[in-house]
Amino acid sequence: MSRSAVSLRGVSRHFGSVKALDAVDLEIAEGEFFAMLGPSGSGKTTCLRLIAGFEQPSAGHIEIFGERVEGVPPYRRNVNTVFQDYALFPHMNVAENVAYSLMLKRVPKAERARTAEAALEMVKLGGYGARRPGQLSGGQRQRVALARAIVNNPRVLLLDEPLGALDLKLRESMQEELKSLQKRLGITFIFVTHDQGEALSMADRVAVFSEGRIRQVGTPETIYRAPNSPFVADFVGSSNVLPPELVETFTGERRWASLRPEAIRVDGGEIGGGERLSGTVVARSYLGPVTRLAIEAAGLRLHAALPSTSALPAEGETVTIMFDRDALHLMESDA
Ligand code: ATP
Repeated sequence: MSRSAVSLRGVSRHFGSVKALDAVDLEIAEGEFFAMLGPSGSGKTTCLRLIAGFEQPSAGHIEIFGERVEGVPPYRRNVNTVFQDYALFPHMNVAENVAYSLMLKRVPKAERARTAEAALEMVKLGGYGARRPGQLSGGQRQRVALARAIVNNPRVLLLDEPLGALDLKLRESMQEELKSLQKRLGITFIFVTHDQGEALSMADRVAVFSEGRIRQVGTPETIYRAPNSPFVADFVGSSNVLPPELVETFTGERRWASLRPEAIRVDGGEIGGGERLSGTVVARSYLGPVTRLAIEAAGLRLHAALPSTSALPAEGETVTIMFDRDALHLMESDA
């Protein structure tokens, strides 16, 4: 791994009896696009705010590029934050918004204007400087917030649900733009999201949070294919989670296992072999390219994602579920 940009060593943040963050260790490398993923209240934002310097740890310490940052205020940390609501000043035009921090640093006016315009061009908003935030679309406002955050060349950019306010279509196009912007700038991006699709599609690595702890850190592929616990399996990609008693009948090992919906085949025409379970289709949802079946089998509700083009069983039909033993991923943890 290349040089460490941010590291957390045993960092906790308690609010009274609430352990918002509980003894977290984390290394984020320079130039990484790193996602913090987890359900509401799992501690992601607290973690981001600690790195930014808006909160102080109750225990442990944080290093940014090898330097401990306790007591260092946010504006001296070489990190910038983009908030979900963008926090643009409505009474200033776009260029003034972007140049705001340069003004505070008393950068001369002409240089300010030049630097702000360059940042706006970077986010494909060259020529928009004279507009007010109120005259922009949601996606454009989001990009102004980004331009404002990159204008003074931070080495680390922290993004708290940066695309949360955008509609699905715009969010998808902004995901691609953010990713290419990050690669172009070479800045370390750390972003918070509760959307697993967003984390998997954008990040180089993902940390999955639950109840103030990090449950797993890895590449999107590792997190998706090899979740270490029923929690991660369930939260990322809505895997089927099979209990130890059932897994033992297939593998001889009494362990929890995950089984991806797309690894399940249903009924007819398949080559023999593989593991089988008999069940009943209880729901069928058409999702475009795939159709999702909910099947009750072995006392569980399992989900299968099948190509919509294949002949699919109807609700109420009895089916045989098949999967390869290799598709069962045994997990370390039982929760
Ligand atoms: P969300 O996705 O909803 O923003 P999150 O994963 O970012 O959630 P945090 O905002 O970090 O979660 O909150 C973690 C826990 O800490 C929650 O139980 C929250 O209520 C609590 N918490 C956060 N900030 C404070 C505070 N200032 N005072 C008291 N409790 C807090």
